[in-house]
Amino acid sequence: MKIKALNGFKDIIPGEVELWQQVENSARDIFARFNFSEIRTPILEKTDLFARSIGETTDIVEKEMYTFVDKQITMRPEATASLLRAYIQHGLHVQKPIQRLFTIGPMFRHERPQKGRLRQFHQMDAEVLGTANPRVDAELMAMGAMLLHELGVTVSLEMNSLGCPVCRPGFRETLLAFIEERKEALCEDCGRRSKTNPLRVLDCKNPKCREQVEEAPSIQEHLCDDCDEHFGAVQSGLQQLGIQYSLNRFMVRGLDYYTRTTFEFITQDLGAQAAVGAGGRYDSLVEKLGGPNVPGIGFAIGMERLVLLLQQHEEEVPVGNAIDIFVAGLGEKASEFAFSLVHALRQKGLQTAMDHEGRSLKSQMKQANKVHSRYVLIIGENELEQGQAVLRNMVNQEQQEIAINRGTEELSHFLVEECQPSSNVAKLSAQKL
Ligand code: ATP
Ligand code: MG
Repeated sequence: MKIKALNGFKDIIPGEVELWQQVENSARDIFARFNFSEIRTPILEKTDLFARSIGETTDIVEKEMYTFVDKQITMRPEATASLLRAYIQHGLHVQKPIQRLFTIGPMFRHERPQKGRLRQFHQMDAEVLGTANPRVDAELMAMGAMLLHELGVTVSLEMNSLGCPVCRPGFRETLLAFIEERKEALCEDCGRRSKTNPLRVLDCKNPKCREQVEEAPSIQEHLCDDCDEHFGAVQSGLQQLGIQYSLNRFMVRGLDYYTRTTFEFITQDLGAQAAVGAGGRYDSLVEKLGGPNVPGIGFAIGMERLVLLLQQHEEEVPVGNAIDIFVAGLGEKASEFAFSLVHALRQKGLQTAMDHEGRSLKSQMKQANKVHSRYVLIIGENELEQGQAVLRNMVNQEQQEIAINRGTEELSHFLVEECQPSSNVAKLSAQKL
């Protein structure tokens, strides 16, 4: 019986992986422009880390985590908690009072797999620790917007403020009173939530609940003076940078740790899985996890959804491993000659391929085309005896006879000069032919 990958777990195979590389390269480029440093944390953490940060009554902790129950360890469902754990553990705040960190990698949530929703999925996550300055909120949203824009993805930015421990409890009471009156009309989940986490009722996707909360009080009108001022300053920052946004008073986000600014990048092109990225501020979380009392803000972009969007409007899939030169040896002696030549070319930095199956010239030319080789060196038995071979430029079809009776070292040196390691531009034009 064939063994298949688990439901909700996907391979990313050649032909697909190129888009992932493109996404990751763009992200690394943008994160560097914004002065972020990479951090890599383990996939397994103590269950308690996620329970304490994400919150016991959230969907993630209640039903989506992959936990080894007997060992009380969990495969990370998101990046922020692990990143903060590492920040605290290594005293990164002592090294630098403001840390700008990013990480890219797989996350795990036991959800119902569907388009844009997997059980192992990948996030690109960026966090700024050590400042509550509203300009940083605007800067972070601008960074997400720049990345999505440069990848050619159209999204809208929605934001809200969730207040702070000073103003949120008051709003919670006001909201609770509003919900009490409409309890009968809410879905089962919201009936339960209204006791533990009433704000979650605001972003329930159930149409019945949506209708009920339409008239609900707005948190934006219940902010304390400090939060209100912060909220205004974040918006001024966005306007100053020319970043389009809209306010969404129903956006709550599914994690308990958020304070003040929350935001989402929304697409119209993926059906129900509309959030491409999301994040927010968490000014008490570091301290809650046993660290210093420092504020923080971060966001994560889901890579699966981003790749789906790119696939929708990418006419030309970027070339993967285009080859500089294919050495076609015909017959055993020529293959033996090609074997050491190919190795010498690789040592000198050329992306090189050859055939090991003794195939015909026609078949080897086909292989060379398939790997988008820019040059092919054809070595037959006769040519080998005469010390000559044909070097064909696959881009313009020009051929030249070259001398091969000069030792592997000198020959490989000559070929490197002749077929300079390719730029992506050359590879792309080779592919178009
Ligand atoms: P959703 O509303 O889609 O469930 P979320 O609020 O749970 O998203 P976050 O925890 O904020 O998502 O994660 C940030 C981003 O990670 C999302 O915007 C999305 O692009 C991506 N993401 C989250 N869960 C999944 C998943 N199961 N599969 C693929 N991508 C995901
Ligand atoms: Mg979710």
